[in-house]
Amino acid sequence: MNSRKNKDGEWEYYWEEKDGPNAGELVGDHIIPIALGGDEWDLKNIQTLCINCNKRKTKRDQINIAVARKKEKLKQKGQQEL
Ligand SMILES: [Zn+2]
Repeated sequence: MNSRKNKDGEWEYYWEEKDGPNAGELVGDHIIPIALGGDEWDLKNIQTLCINCNKRKTKRDQINIAVARKKEKLKQKGQQEL
């Protein structure tokens, strides 16, 4: 199961075909990962995902976090060289 905002800005939930019939447990997920500056306690930054969707999103998040860290490092390096 995944969640998305509808035109009224409310969360709605939908099942994805790739989830299969027994996608199972739902978990709370930070839409913007805390590592990327997302607010840990703001409900607007929390969505409900099934385990399958959460796993897929976690993989995407990890890539985004790695990219952000790399950029940050390059930035720091650039400042040191000035
Ligand atoms: Zn799902």
